[in-house]
Amino acid sequence: MNYDIQKIRSYFPVLHQKVYDKPLVYFDSAASAQKPIQVLMAKEKLHNDYYGNIHRGAHFMADKTTVQFEEVRDKIRNFINAESREEIIFTKGTTESVNLVAYSFCEKFVKEGDEIIVSEMEHHANIVPWQLAAERKKAKIVKLPFNDLGVLEIEKLPSLINQKTKLIAVAHVSNVLGTVNPVSEIIELAHENNVAVFVDGAQAVQHLQIDVQKLDADFYAFSAHKLYGPNGVGVLYGKKKWLEQIPPYQGGGEMIAEVSFEGTTFNQLPLKFEAGTPNITSVIAFGAAIGLIIEIGLQNIEEWELSLLEYATSKLKEVQGIRIYGEAPEKSSVISFNIEGIHFYDLGVLLDKMGIAVRTGHLCADTVMQHFGINGCVRISFGLYNTKAEIDIFIAALNKVRLMF
Ligand code: PMP
Repeated sequence: MNYDIQKIRSYFPVLHQKVYDKPLVYFDSAASAQKPIQVLMAKEKLHNDYYGNIHRGAHFMADKTTVQFEEVRDKIRNFINAESREEIIFTKGTTESVNLVAYSFCEKFVKEGDEIIVSEMEHHANIVPWQLAAERKKAKIVKLPFNDLGVLEIEKLPSLINQKTKLIAVAHVSNVLGTVNPVSEIIELAHENNVAVFVDGAQAVQHLQIDVQKLDADFYAFSAHKLYGPNGVGVLYGKKKWLEQIPPYQGGGEMIAEVSFEGTTFNQLPLKFEAGTPNITSVIAFGAAIGLIIEIGLQNIEEWELSLLEYATSKLKEVQGIRIYGEAPEKSSVISFNIEGIHFYDLGVLLDKMGIAVRTGHLCADTVMQHFGINGCVRISFGLYNTKAEIDIFIAALNKVRLMF
């Protein structure tokens, strides 16, 4: 594999620093990834060279900004192979994408007594909006469980789907277990029963090549900040047939065709779902992040990160008293664990003092914690810039902490 890790790391100046006088080891990319210079420069260039509000300006600056903004929509369409650019909606992030669909889809298609299936391994962002919608519509949430390896029990899915089932919400990759879920299989089964599927791709797009047409996903959501882009921006992909039928999520400028006190007509897709001035700067900078991913190649990134995952898993398994949560045969770049006799929070704090950034706590996934009967755990997660040498530093630090207890 031709993977020039030194060159890649040189794009991320933030990684070359010391924390508490120790070289920084950043193992928290699943929470938010670091930003390359291409992204930082894109932001600066926009504000130094030209800037205007988009879609409505009749001047050079506004036109130029609009073109740049809309080019990113095309880039994203290509990146996930959506059929048309109208199916790419810019949101604030995955959370807003879920809320949009939970509100608008349920408003149109879910009625009293209907059911929405949600997997047990979801991030809170892919549970709570469905609960809120279900409460509003007097519908029911049905759990699709996972087993102790962290694998969804999809053999149970046929018995969970019935005439009342309207939608299945599932993560492509779990933010705690790292499991890569069989979303194609789930979607196929759902569609045989006329059920729509919402895929939370927040932990998938940065690691796996996504083809929404091949997956046949009805909705697919992700955030720019986990994809080496800025925060405050995300994407909702939705099949045109759904987006055309469901009502707007928010009202305001941009999303209208005509407004009068007698009534309002709505704009065409995608603007129907983009009320108000969007996060112009971040969308344009997001384009630079996608550009970098394409330049490195997702296939290469996937191979590199899998080698890190395998290496770290085998090293971690040698650590005395360790319990890893999530041992599915198909995993992506996260490993969650606890060490017997050490509180996850203490472990996180002590690792931090050794320059190693990890995530601790419930990881916004209470239902996963409840499954394992724990209050929290430690999670390490890899990005395209991490190395085996960093894993060695981490394992040595872990053993040092273990000896302290
Ligand atoms: N879903 C998953 C699987 C996640 O990991 C996250 C972020 N931790 C989210 C949803 C929410 O993403 P955001 O906070 O960017 O909206």
